[in-house]
Amino acid sequence: MVTGGSRGIGAAVVQALAARGVRTCFSYATRREAADVVAATAHDLGSACLAVQADVSVESDVRRLFHAAAELGPVTGLVNNAGITGPQSSVADLEVDRIRRILDVNVVGAFLCAREAVKHLRASGGGTIVNVSSRAAVSGSPGEYVDYAASKAAVDTLTVGLAQEVAADGIRVAGVRPGLIRTDIHASSGEPGRVERLQKTIPMGRAGEPDEVAEAVVWLLSDAASFVTGATLDVAGGR
Ligand code: NAP
Repeated sequence: MVTGGSRGIGAAVVQALAARGVRTCFSYATRREAADVVAATAHDLGSACLAVQADVSVESDVRRLFHAAAELGPVTGLVNNAGITGPQSSVADLEVDRIRRILDVNVVGAFLCAREAVKHLRASGGGTIVNVSSRAAVSGSPGEYVDYAASKAAVDTLTVGLAQEVAADGIRVAGVRPGLIRTDIHASSGEPGRVERLQKTIPMGRAGEPDEVAEAVVWLLSDAASFVTGATLDVAGGR
C-alpha cells in the first residue's frame, strides 16, 4: 500500500515496486488521470496495480482504501507517503485553516494509515511500514513552512514509538527524510522554481530525483533491511 501514488515520490515508489514484481494498491487525492497513468505503467511492468481515490485524513476513506487493497491479496507493507505543504509564510502570518489541513493530512493521515496497516499486517503475520518524513523535521523550515516541518517531526516520532509497539508482532517501522526532491509539490505550494533556487545550497550541489528516494524506501521495505526498525534514513544529498 502506497499513499499518494499519483505523482512525485509516491509514483516513483509504485514504479520501483512494480519493477520488482510487487503488487501495489495506491491512493490519490484528486488527480485521477495521473493515477491512471501510474497504474498503467505498473501494469506494463507486469505487476498488478490498483489506484483508489481516498483522502488519508478521512477515516472512512482510509478504511475503504485498505478494504479495496484486499483485491490484490493481504497487505504486506505500507508506504505512508501522502503529504502536503502550503505557500511559504512566517509563523506570524499562518492562517489556522492551513495549519489544521497540513496537520490533518500529514499527521492524522499518517496515523490513520499506520493504524489500519498494523491491523492488516498483524493478520498476515508481519510486514513493514515506511513513513515518508522530510529533512524539514530537523531544519524547521524557518520562513517557509514551520507547520509542515513540525508535522514531519511528528511523523518521525510515530516511527520511533510505533516501531517499539509492534516489533514483537513481526512488524518493522522505518522512515525516510527526503531533502530537496524534484517533484511538483513545490509548484503546488506556490514556488515552481524552488528547486532551482535552492539546489546550490545542497552539499551535493543538486536536488534529488523521486526515484532516488524510492530506492531507499524499497530497501527499507525489503528483507535486506530485516534488522532495521525505528530508524529514519536521510535521503538528502548531505543537507
Ligand atoms: P507531490 O508531488 O505533491 O505528490 C503528493 C501525493 O500525495 C499525490 O499523489 C497526491 O495526490 C497525494 N495526496 C495529497 N494529499 C492527499 C490526501 N489528503 N490524501 C491522499 N493523498 C493525498 O509530493 P511529493 O513531493 O512527491 O511528496 C511526497 C512526500 O514526500 C510528502 O509526504 C512530502 O511531504 C515528502 N517530501 C517531499 C519533498 C520534496 O522536496 N518533494 C521533500 C521532503 C519530503 P493528488 O495527485 O491526487 O493530489
